[in-house]
Amino acid sequence: MKLHILGCGDAFGSGGRNNSGYLVEAEDRLFLLDCGPTTLVAMKRAGFDPRALDSVFLSHLHGDHFGGLPFFFLDALYANPRAEPLVVAGPPGTEERSRALFQLMFGDPAEPRELPPTRFRLLEPDREAGIEGIEVFPFRVPHQVREISLGLKIRFQGVHSEGVDLFLCECCFFDRDAPNHMSYRQIVENRIRLGCKRLILTHLGEEMLARSGELDVEIAEDGMVVEI
Ligand SMILES: [Zn+2]
Ligand SMILES: [Zn+2]
Repeated sequence: MKLHILGCGDAFGSGGRNNSGYLVEAEDRLFLLDCGPTTLVAMKRAGFDPRALDSVFLSHLHGDHFGGLPFFFLDALYANPRAEPLVVAGPPGTEERSRALFQLMFGDPAEPRELPPTRFRLLEPDREAGIEGIEVFPFRVPHQVREISLGLKIRFQGVHSEGVDLFLCECCFFDRDAPNHMSYRQIVENRIRLGCKRLILTHLGEEMLARSGELDVEIAEDGMVVEI
């Protein structure tokens, strides 16, 4: 598998980095993890045709993680019509919110604009799903209180192994304790417990970027390609 980090920034554009978007190539499959507002641009800049995309997996419904979907819908309607529907999988509310966002951004109040062919799939905590040949294990993470934010464990033609090959972990802050984001200090304190073969920190805020010289853990960069 090959992971293309299209965007590893936060919701504030910290460091001029793109919003969340991770493109995964797995043999003949091509899918996205998260789809922030900058994701279509970054995907095209990396040389990919959006028609080749099979599916999009959303961790949660904050704008920096799913606000790029309307651009993919528009692209499929007018610029690059797709042969097969795009599969969009996400937590409860994904279909309604995605449709509503598309109408807000590109719809005409007098005449709602139809989506291009799209199949929505629901991801629920602790319920394994097979989607377009990809096995997904969603689990709940403490990022939102009322709504559901998911961590996504992805497997493709793999066997169970002790630790995951790559843990792409959000890390907004350096040492600030926040209820809904991780800090570098918390990650270092729990590094052994994580048990992953490789750890890359992403969703980097200003504080993390300012102190990137002090880090003992690898951090993501926009445009970075990781072999798994
Ligand atoms: Zn975010
Ligand atoms: Zn969020």
